[in-house]
Amino acid sequence: MKTNNKYDVIIIGGSYAGLSAAMALGRAMRHVLIIDGGRPCNWQTPHSHNFLTQDGNTPESIARVSKAQVMQYPTIEFIEGQVIRVEGENDRFTVYNLEGQAFAARKLLFATGIKDLMPEIKGFADCWGISVIHCPYCHGYEYRNEQTGILVNGDQAFEFARLINNWTKKLTVFTNGASTINESQREQLLQLNINVIETPIREIRHIDGFLDELLFGDGSSSKMTALYAKIPFEQHSDIPAKLGCKMTDTGYIQTDDFQKTSIPGIYAAGDNSTMFRSLSITVGAGTKAGAFINHELIAGL
Ligand SMILES: Cc1cc2nc3c(=O)[nH]c(=O)nc-3n(C[C@H](O)[C@H](O)[C@H](O)COP(=O)(O)OP(=O)(O)OC[C@H]3O[C@@H](n4cnc5c(N)ncnc54)[C@H](O)[C@@H]3O)c2cc1C
Repeated sequence: MKTNNKYDVIIIGGSYAGLSAAMALGRAMRHVLIIDGGRPCNWQTPHSHNFLTQDGNTPESIARVSKAQVMQYPTIEFIEGQVIRVEGENDRFTVYNLEGQAFAARKLLFATGIKDLMPEIKGFADCWGISVIHCPYCHGYEYRNEQTGILVNGDQAFEFARLINNWTKKLTVFTNGASTINESQREQLLQLNINVIETPIREIRHIDGFLDELLFGDGSSSKMTALYAKIPFEQHSDIPAKLGCKMTDTGYIQTDDFQKTSIPGIYAAGDNSTMFRSLSITVGAGTKAGAFINHELIAGL
């Protein structure tokens, strides 16, 4: 297959991390191709918070303005599409997309994010990012003092409940089955007036994603305005793992302080390589990756 021009860098994933890296590289006059599948993890959230200058804006508008600013740099190209395979090694990578095109690059940045794996509770996915939320710093202020649940079990439930207790005192922990919270933790939660309910949740009743009540397997129900949930995830792209990039025990791409992976010439930035999930951290990691990729190109590494 014939490859197109050789780029300095191909960025796979053109959301916040990818665009941020592209801005640094564009300002360093590097030839960059961004390939983006258009599925950022926060697409369903009505308003994004806790990111300076953008507090309360929609994820779509933040991404749109970011992309417009990045595309002002003439050495940056952006195409929509899905990368399905990568071959080669440092200085000689080939990236293939679903449409059957091939592109060559000296360096790669994976800014591919992660995919949340929704539990099979009716209504859960519809409410995700709206009233079923993952992070108090992103959405807790909007639900302060409201009737709130936490869907998580064990040590995590204990730690999370004590954290969320800062935003609301009307708090209940739902373990969705037998509790694995130990006796001493349960005592401490009770002292904070936080009950633990073990009855499995059958359905989340909502209006357009805004929670109304939880329906339980035994036919009972509980009125609720917000529900925090810790759910599992997988890498949005399995290509870094397939290329042999080392992964952490918790499922992230392992990087050093400069966003370098364990494979020479391959970088990762954003949600795929940190458990601290927020726009500001993601954008910071992208900037760092862009700068250090440029540094590596200058050094001829
Ligand atoms: C529901 C929800 C609400 C949130 N709310 C907030 C908030 O209010 N404030 C805040 O600071 N943070 C918030 N976050 C966190 C924030 O959205 C993430 O930290 C941020 O989106 C991570 O950016 P990213 O670029 O790493 O990944 P993403 O934004 O997830 O983007 C990854 C991109 O890579 C693309 N991609 C993946 N694989 C491929 C491939 N093989 N080929 C081509 N493209 C590919 C995807 O299509 C996607 O466009 C929220 C997260 C969620 C899930």
